[in-house]
Amino acid sequence: MQFFIPDRCPKCGAEGRVVRYENLLANLRSIEGVDAAKEYRYCTNEACDVIYFSGTQTFTNDQLLRKSAAKCSDPDATICYCFDYKVADASEEAFEEYKAKNAQGCACGVRNPSGKCCSKIFKRYLSERA
Ligand SMILES: [Zn+2]
Repeated sequence: MQFFIPDRCPKCGAEGRVVRYENLLANLRSIEGVDAAKEYRYCTNEACDVIYFSGTQTFTNDQLLRKSAAKCSDPDATICYCFDYKVADASEEAFEEYKAKNAQGCACGVRNPSGKCCSKIFKRYLSERA
């Protein structure tokens, strides 16, 4: 039997960060089974394909409208959800352009499945390429 800790991912056991309900609505392909009364968390383990969980309920990267580059490095995976940069787009030039757009404001709290800004992920793809 699996040991069950409420704020830990039921698949990998990593810590989860609470995300807004709107975040799930904005990112899941189907919101079937999403319960507004529950608290959902984002699995912070990049090696785990679980995006959201609540108790034993999970939603994985494949269930997102746009697959997250934080959890896989497929060329079509999304790095920046606000300005639509994908893994295949990652370059120093694109990053400069992104920073200028981002300075005008972003909506990562809702649009990014992690609920956090994507600049760290973006930078990681730059250094991997260098
Ligand atoms: Zn996990």
